[in-house]
Amino acid sequence: MQESIKENLWVIQQRMAEACQRSGRSISHVRLIGVTKTVSSESIREGVEAGVGILGENYVQEAMKKMELLKDLPLEWHFIGHLQSNKARFAAGIFQLIHTLDRLSLARELNKAARRLDRKIAVLLQVNVGDESSKSGVQPHELTTLHREVSRMEGLHVQGLMTLPPYREDPEEVRPFFQRMRELLDGIRDRSQNPEDLKELSMGMSHDFQVAIEEGATLIRVGTALFGVRPLKTP
Ligand SMILES: *Cc1c(COP(=O)(O)O)cnc(C)c1O
Repeated sequence: MQESIKENLWVIQQRMAEACQRSGRSISHVRLIGVTKTVSSESIREGVEAGVGILGENYVQEAMKKMELLKDLPLEWHFIGHLQSNKARFAAGIFQLIHTLDRLSLARELNKAARRLDRKIAVLLQVNVGDESSKSGVQPHELTTLHREVSRMEGLHVQGLMTLPPYREDPEEVRPFFQRMRELLDGIRDRSQNPEDLKELSMGMSHDFQVAIEEGATLIRVGTALFGVRPLKTP
């Protein structure tokens, strides 16, 4: 039998609280993002009524459609997918946080869009912490350079780091990658003039978010555990 989204959310919140307790962290420092790629606006509504306040979308066009359908709801929208440079100007205007800034050319596009919109765009730098060819993100040794360049861009506001670590059946085996992200964040903080601005670590998904929280995640991105298994294709 299909669990309801409300029940799923309750279970996730319990696990978030337990992970915080185990690691001596405050639950107020960990925010849940409901990942809604391919999820219908009806199901999203159910999630929002149950208490989900931030949505994470992977595709700009899909997100724009849902924003229109859900515009009556007080929601924060985050972009968590791979962002093509030609979509940067659309994304810049509609998301409160872009998690996946992974290259300088994209930073330049976003910065241009920010100027046009006359606002700052909040971004996270995506790190390919497992050095996997299938995944986006800078390699850990390239992070300092990307951070330095992006920090100079007037229109962008770097708030932290994001990663999609390698998948492991046993989430304990993902822990070293989360630890590495924490170290990388500390590293760019040490070199930053505004270290207090660098506070977000977006990491942890349905099967490993508890470990991610124990290692310092501030934003966890949960899809399947909340909305159920996704169909393979966008409806
Ligand atoms: C789909 C997706 C998630 C959520 O994955 P689940 O395993 O369904 O929780 C998180 N982050 C990103 C970037 C995703 O694309």
